[in-house]
Amino acid sequence: MDSGNLLICKTCGYKILSCRLKRECPACGVSSHYFESYKDNISIKRRGLLDFHIHPIIVHFSVATSILLVLIIAAGSFLSGEISNIFFNTATVLSVLLPLFVIAGAVSGIIDGILRFKKAKRPNLIKKIYLSMGFFISSAALIVLLLIFRFNHIWINLIMILAGLAAASFSIFLGKLGGDLSEAILPGK
Ligand SMILES: [Zn+2]
Repeated sequence: MDSGNLLICKTCGYKILSCRLKRECPACGVSSHYFESYKDNISIKRRGLLDFHIHPIIVHFSVATSILLVLIIAAGSFLSGEISNIFFNTATVLSVLLPLFVIAGAVSGIIDGILRFKKAKRPNLIKKIYLSMGFFISSAALIVLLLIFRFNHIWINLIMILAGLAAASFSIFLGKLGGDLSEAILPGK
């Protein structure tokens, strides 16, 4: 983004290039008169990389997959026959993908965090790294349990549902922390 032509909405703080601003703020709807010029305090290169929003986009995959897995395992545990096999196969595919999505989210998150706050050693980023480890361990536990026990043992099914709920909770806490961080004013240049 060329910070030279950047404008900010005085009502909601939304930033936009002057050439893209129409009659109203695309975020809150006030008239374009409420915009004033904005001097970005971070470099054009850093802003450009952050504007791809790679980490927030990637994490949607792990959040959606973890929640879907809980639902599919819970439903599959109470079914039998061919339909149970279909649920089992779906759960297996998703549980293979989930740890990969978690790793992709963690790697992109560390890069995003360093881009935003210049160092990975910040309290909230460290907290997010620990939460991602929990997310990874619970998602790895899911695939191991699924492949060994399938849906054949009711107690194991319950443990899998709990592991899935743990994974989904980690993803929600991570999202909440990330959402709070995304509103922070970033350190300059
Ligand atoms: Zn606005």
